[in-house]
Amino acid sequence: MTNKIINGFATALKGLSITLRHLFSSHGKRNILPASDANYFKRLEGTNTIQYPHQSLPIPEVGRYQLDVEMDDCIVCDLCAKVCPVDCIDIEAIKATEAIGQTSDGTTKRLYAAKFDIDMAKCMYCGLCTIVCPTECIVMTNQYDRSVVGLNELTYKFSDMTPEDATQKRREFEQQQAERQAAKMAAMQKKEGGS
Ligand code: SF4
Ligand code: SF4
Repeated sequence: MTNKIINGFATALKGLSITLRHLFSSHGKRNILPASDANYFKRLEGTNTIQYPHQSLPIPEVGRYQLDVEMDDCIVCDLCAKVCPVDCIDIEAIKATEAIGQTSDGTTKRLYAAKFDIDMAKCMYCGLCTIVCPTECIVMTNQYDRSVVGLNELTYKFSDMTPEDATQKRREFEQQQAERQAAKMAAMQKKEGGS
C-alpha cells in the first residue's frame, strides 16, 4: 500500500516536472521562418504558435489561396467553370451585339458576364481554373485570411452588371438576332421573287 502511494506521488511529480519544463521552455518566442526553410521542422524551442494576426508566417510562392478574377481581361469563355471539379464557379454570359473591347493580351471580348460567382466555401484550391484560363485573368492570390460571419459571404461576386443592365443587353441581342433573321427572310423572298 505504501509503495503504491509513493509510486503515485513519483508519477505525479514526474508528469508535473515535464509539464513545467515545457511551460518554461516554450516561454521564448520562435523565429518566424517560412515552411520552405531547411530548419523549419528542426526548431524545438519557443512557442508552437505565433501571435496571429500580429505575426504571420511567410507565404510560399506557390501557395494556393483565395481566387481573384480580373474582369477586364475575362472573355467569359466559361472554361474555368467547366473544368472546376466541384462546380463552384457560376458564370452567366450574355452575347454582345458587337465587340465590346479587348483584354490586355489583345483578345477581343464579345460576351458580357451577367454573373461571375465563385463559392470559395466549396473550392478545393486545385488551381485548375487558373491553368485553363486563356487570358490568365483568374489567379490565386496570397490572401488566405478572409474571415466572414455567414457562409454565403464566401461566395465572391466578380461581375458588377446589374440585373437591369443584363436584361437590357439580352434584349439588344435578341433584337439584333430578330432583325438579322428578318433581313435574311426578306433577302430570300426577294431572290425567290426575282427568279
Ligand atoms: S481552384 Fe479548383 S475547385 Fe477552386 S474554383 Fe478553381 S477549379 Fe474550382
Ligand atoms: S477561363 Fe478565364 S476568361 Fe474564361 S471565363 Fe474563366 S476567368 Fe474568364
